[in-house]
This record gives sequence, C-alpha cells and structure tokens, in this order.
Amino acid sequence: MHPDLETIVLTEAQIAERIRELGEQISADYGHEPVLLIAVLRGAALFVADLARAIESPVEIDFMAVSSYGSSTKSSGVVRIIKDLDETIEGRHVLVVEDILDTGLTLKYLLKNLASRGPASLEVVTLLSKEGKQRVPISCRYIGFDVPDEFVVGYGLDYAERYRNLPYIGILKPEIYSD
Ligand code: 5GP
Repeated sequence: MHPDLETIVLTEAQIAERIRELGEQISADYGHEPVLLIAVLRGAALFVADLARAIESPVEIDFMAVSSYGSSTKSSGVVRIIKDLDETIEGRHVLVVEDILDTGLTLKYLLKNLASRGPASLEVVTLLSKEGKQRVPISCRYIGFDVPDEFVVGYGLDYAERYRNLPYIGILKPEIYSD
C-alpha cells in the first residue's frame, strides 16, 4: 500500500470484477445499439478505459472536462466546461461515465447541458457513489460501489493531481492534507 494512505477501500481485484459486471449489464441493456461513452475528465479516464473494454456493444468514446470552483476537497456546484465534446450527440445513445458522485451538483449541470442537445437516450454510470450524500437527486442507472462519505483517491481520483495512478482506491492519512 502507498505510504500516504491510511486504508484501502477497494482493491484492484474488486474494481476489476465490478467493472466486468457493469460491462455485462451495459452490453445486455444496449445490445447491438452503439453507445457513446462520455467520460468526464480527468477522474473518469482510467474507469472509461477499463469499462469500454468490458462492453460488447459497439462503443464510441468522447471526453468532456469540467471544473468545479471551490477548495480541492469540496464541491461548490459552480461548474464550467473546460473542454466540450468533439462531436454532436443528437440522436445517439449517450452514457455519461463519472468517477464519483458526491453532491451530484456536477452531474446535474452536465446532464441538463447534454439533455438540451437531443440525445436518443441519456444515462449515467458512476464507479463510486457516496452514501447518503447526494444533495440533488440524480438518476444514475449504473453504480459500481457505494462508498463511505470520505475523500478517496486512486484509480483516477486525485488529491492535488496526485494518486490517480494507484490501481486501488483508498483514504489518505489526515496529515497529507494541506488545506
Ligand atoms: P459532486 O459535484 O458530485 O459533488 O462532485 C463530483 C466531483 O468531485 C467528482 O467528479 C470528483 O472530481 C470530485 N470528488 C468528489 N468526491 C471526491 C473524492 O472523494 N475524491 C476525489 N478525489 N474527488 C472527489
């Protein structure tokens, strides 16, 4: 385990197994219909790479980057699009790929924005969802894991841009936080 971590919440094997299951479920639901995965950078980059390979339906991938103002460990709900999609989503089956659903404010903004572009369908898959936390109700079709309401890092999730490369998900030691 990385020396900055206090505990591991999800192991590499647990993440891999759950993504395999999500891929099966998504493939069963979409069948032969092409599905456009829209990954929200940067946190969902690792998840979308593994999830895409677990889906048997025809898959296309596009990326969006948003920034949320506020301190690094809290969501403010004010969202700005930093990088928009490269292609139109009109008439396409869109599956938004998120790393973690916390207050839901980021996704709420994003879904409203994407819905206005006329996709054939619009669903969400999130790897993690914080238990008892959603401040705004989000209908999320696929959830990888419910996790405790603590700040987690690893497998794409950062603290001050570090730890994204950890193959597992864990909680940092309190002394690591600088704010
Ligand atoms: P929300 O708008 O749902 O509160 O926050 C969503 C975004 O905040 C996530 O996509 C992620 O970038 C960031 N975030 C929320 N909780 C955590 C966490 O526990 N760890 C990390 N590294 N990022 C988080």
